[in-house]
Amino acid sequence: MTDVVLEHIDILIIGAGPVGMTLNLALAAGGQKSLLVDRRPQQSPQNDPRALALSYGARQLLEQINAWPAHAATPIATIHISQKDGFGRTLIDRTEHALPALGYVVRYRDLATALAAQLSADARLDAVEILDITPTEEHLTISLRHAGALRRLQTKLLIHAEGTQEDDPAVKVSDYHQHAVIVEITPQPGHQNRAWERFTPDGPLALLPLGNEYSVVFTLPPAKADAVMAMDDTAFTAALQSQFGTRMSFANPGPRSRFPLFLRMREKLVQGNEVWIGNTAQTLHPVSGQGFNLGIRDAWQLAEILLKNGVDHSSLAAYAASRRLDRQGSAFFTDQIVRAFSNDFGPLKLVRGLGLLALDICPPARNFVAKRMIWGARAWP
Ligand SMILES: Cc1cc2nc3c(=O)[nH]c(=O)nc-3n(C[C@H](O)[C@H](O)[C@H](O)COP(=O)(O)OP(=O)(O)OC[C@H]3O[C@@H](n4cnc5c(N)ncnc54)[C@H](O)[C@@H]3O)c2cc1C
Repeated sequence: MTDVVLEHIDILIIGAGPVGMTLNLALAAGGQKSLLVDRRPQQSPQNDPRALALSYGARQLLEQINAWPAHAATPIATIHISQKDGFGRTLIDRTEHALPALGYVVRYRDLATALAAQLSADARLDAVEILDITPTEEHLTISLRHAGALRRLQTKLLIHAEGTQEDDPAVKVSDYHQHAVIVEITPQPGHQNRAWERFTPDGPLALLPLGNEYSVVFTLPPAKADAVMAMDDTAFTAALQSQFGTRMSFANPGPRSRFPLFLRMREKLVQGNEVWIGNTAQTLHPVSGQGFNLGIRDAWQLAEILLKNGVDHSSLAAYAASRRLDRQGSAFFTDQIVRAFSNDFGPLKLVRGLGLLALDICPPARNFVAKRMIWGARAWP
């Protein structure tokens, strides 16, 4: 291994997911090169079944790096929030916010393709296996295998954007005991660009307009998710219909996938010359669609600080401090919604109904929730 030539790189990013690619492009826009490495072959995001609700703020950032997938994005005009078998509901409307949309729904694969199209030819290495990371006072040395060859890279800054890591002892994990079953399904009549967030005792049910379909996130306890995954299309459609109610009917469900749900928070975002961003720093419940929206703000903020102040320890400390409010606020907001709504406790149901009603008749409170969805931490004064 010591015979292998040492290659010098200013910034190495492990993980060419949407967050890692955004960071590479935001740095490149300011004249700073970085290298992305990923263990997956380049085409594999094409198999990712997720659709992401992107905030209006995320669209603005993606536009700045020419990676907004306009042709593949379905606008959200209204969001209807309600609880199953309980009173109270809130409607958030884009016209109250003078915006063309509250947010947009985009398939993960279309977002990944739009970002990848903007990368320079030498920006990434795919199908890489990281063999070793050795930190010293000034640098890190990374040994990896790529295309059958061993390579050694020395970098001043290593950025972790590997997404959710299941075995990282530095991450605090809280199990929601819920799984998200995701599917695309045709609504009748059409969706009119309305997103639905319906709270049920089993967990939240989200319907996101995507093309002519709804992308459904059907959250259930693990055993019920097993049952739903095993159903034929007719039984599955009936199960979804019974959770949603009768305001709309569904047909032609596509293939189903499932994701177990956890809250994972890494306490330290910076350690020596290493930084953690995106899902590797925090993985949230998908209930309010905050995950990538938070991750893109991580990438953006880090790029801005590095471009302004250069790569040194004070920049990294400034980055960690600057992200505290946004990540903790987003995690708290999401976690509280899941815990308050995912039960069938009578008094809580009443309080939730009153809360939804209050939200509906109180514009400042509704604005706060809407702004958190549209802008993230900028919702705070
Ligand atoms: C069901 C579901 C619905 C969701 N809905 C929304 C939503 O509506 N809105 C929203 O904003 N977010 C949503 N999210 C969250 C969103 O998917 C994530 O926040 C986002 O994908 C994180 O991007 P990332 O780049 O940090 O990680 P990832 O997308 O996981 O990418 C990580 C990359 O790192 C690579 N990698 C991993 N380990 C290594 C390694 N050891 N070496 C090299 N490369 C490695 C992987 O191959 C991958 O390419 C949802 C999540 C789920 C599960």
